[in-house]
Amino acid sequence: MQIHQFDAVIVGAGGAGLMAALHASSQVNVAVISKLYPTRSHTGTAQGGIGAALGNIEEDHWEWHAFDTVKGSDYLADQDAVEVLCREAIDVVFELEHMGLPFDRIENGTISQRRFGGHTSNFGEKPVHRACHAADRTGHMILQTLYQQCVKNNVRFFDEFHVIDLVMQASKPAGVIAVELASGELHVFHARAVMIATGGWGRVWQISSNGYTATGEGASMVLRQGLPLEDLEFYQFHPTGLYKMGILITEGVRGEGGILLNGRGERFMERYAPHIKDLAGRDVISRAIYLEIREGRGIDGRDYVYLDVTPETVNKCLATAGEPRRIDRHYVESKLPDILDFCRTYLGIDPVEAPIPVQPTAHYAMGGIPTNANAEVVIDTGNSVLPGLYAAGECACASVHGANRLGTNSLVDLVVFGRRGGQAMAEYCMGANIDALSEDPAGAVQARLDRLRHANGKFRVAELRGRMQQVMSEHVGVFREAQGMQQAIDTIRELKDHYQNDLLLEDRGYVFNSDLMEAWELGSLLDLSEATAVSALARRESRGAHAREDCPDRDDEKWLKHTLIRRADAGELKLDYKPVVITDYQPKERVY
Ligand SMILES: Cc1cc2nc3c(=O)[nH]c(=O)nc-3n(C[C@H](O)[C@H](O)[C@H](O)COP(=O)(O)OP(=O)(O)OC[C@H]3O[C@@H](n4cnc5c(N)ncnc54)[C@H](O)[C@@H]3O)c2cc1C
Repeated sequence: MQIHQFDAVIVGAGGAGLMAALHASSQVNVAVISKLYPTRSHTGTAQGGIGAALGNIEEDHWEWHAFDTVKGSDYLADQDAVEVLCREAIDVVFELEHMGLPFDRIENGTISQRRFGGHTSNFGEKPVHRACHAADRTGHMILQTLYQQCVKNNVRFFDEFHVIDLVMQASKPAGVIAVELASGELHVFHARAVMIATGGWGRVWQISSNGYTATGEGASMVLRQGLPLEDLEFYQFHPTGLYKMGILITEGVRGEGGILLNGRGERFMERYAPHIKDLAGRDVISRAIYLEIREGRGIDGRDYVYLDVTPETVNKCLATAGEPRRIDRHYVESKLPDILDFCRTYLGIDPVEAPIPVQPTAHYAMGGIPTNANAEVVIDTGNSVLPGLYAAGECACASVHGANRLGTNSLVDLVVFGRRGGQAMAEYCMGANIDALSEDPAGAVQARLDRLRHANGKFRVAELRGRMQQVMSEHVGVFREAQGMQQAIDTIRELKDHYQNDLLLEDRGYVFNSDLMEAWELGSLLDLSEATAVSALARRESRGAHAREDCPDRDDEKWLKHTLIRRADAGELKLDYKPVVITDYQPKERVY
């Protein structure tokens, strides 16, 4: 076992981890540990854009952005944190620009912006151009830019090191333990402060836009320590995943004028959101698609609808709306090159000529590790800080997305709270002592890993994972009701029992043992599935992405509050609630 020592250790090399590393590294020494090579992190797949009220194409203000974010969240976001997000978004986009990020430009040389779901001008009046983008590869550009800056700043990278657990001493974080994938060797990273930036857990569900590595281990590590996770019941299903595969078709397609059509050729969003139609919030559109399909109006009565961005259709809609703009093949090719590529490669369809078959896909965790606006982890209903522990990015919950995130707001979240977290961490490290490590900091982890390595039961990882994904998709998906959710909880507990007592692993080696790491990831997915279903069953209302058929209304009187779920000493999950911070925007009915 090797022991390393750093001031700050950051787990995860996505947008959040890299932004934090960059800012912390100007003051203290920083290690970034990542199970993937950094530029393979999920941030690299983000397509449509990063939201900031630059007002390059038309008038815009950060206050309008904040209003849209709060409304999109179905009033569950903490409004003080939303203000920070939207105000600092502007500055952070310029910071990225000055690092050399190759944004698309408009004629006057400023950053190009496009429309996106739920983003409006003048407090909901009409769609606004707010999403700054680099074609449909915005995340790729952010990740490459930040990685280069981190290398320049001498951040130490430990790539293909899989973090297994936090090291806690006297209830404070003292580092992390990781497996080096190439050798199977354990490494202890001893540090004054730890940041978790491990991304989301879309792999809890069957159809997902997330990579196979989105398994939520940072969040489950926190849960294992008896610390709370916030608002897990709010998981976003993006309306437009490629049929059967779940690969994301960015909202930018609709931002550029694409529309949704059902099996009868109707633009059905006119019925569900007469005002902004195909650019309504993601939760609203996912439910609309689901209902169209359920009522037999999918394409040929099947379980998908069409997303049409052919110039012919788009120009017809633009003309009807009285807009002077027209698009052509060249425009679609230049604005959505990757989307065209996915459709041509995976489905043999050319979206310039034919509509794209789509269905909702599991996309984004609104909930996660609770933090304040400096990315410091908070651990109770009074928001007490746990000194030395930080979380940023999708695994964290600041909470700026509440019950439903607006498109483009995750990339903003990564860089705004990544930057704040990096700075706060550096300051903390400069004043904090580093306590000696206990004698065998990795002993318990080593024993658990070895037990898994030698598991000799009857259930393979893929089988348990498949059953988990199926039951979570069926009962804790776009629509939910009590009986189904209870069934999901029972099944997940049964699967957890098989996982503990009857798992089968075939690779017992040390070198690149992906079998073992997948098994470890499954443990995390099962924990998060259970905590999600338990949080969801308890919330007896519908809000944002949590849509209950048995409690269809939002209930502000009883449920305008955040869920906290933690594992008690005896192992059972315990729920608690904390108030939502409301500053300027009183909850209203959400009409699009
Ligand atoms: C297809 C797609 C398109 C999207 N498009 C947009 C968009 O246009 N705009 C927008 O705002 N949002 C978008 N999102 C959402 C956004 O991209 C993600 O929420 C965000 O990138 C997550 O970033 P992150 O830094 O939190 O984590 P990630 O980028 O997911 O990185 C996680 C990091 O943690 C590491 N890690 C995880 N577990 C471990 C472990 N146990 N040990 C060591 N390392 C670990 C990984 O190696 C990785 O480096 C999109 C998401 C998807 C899936």
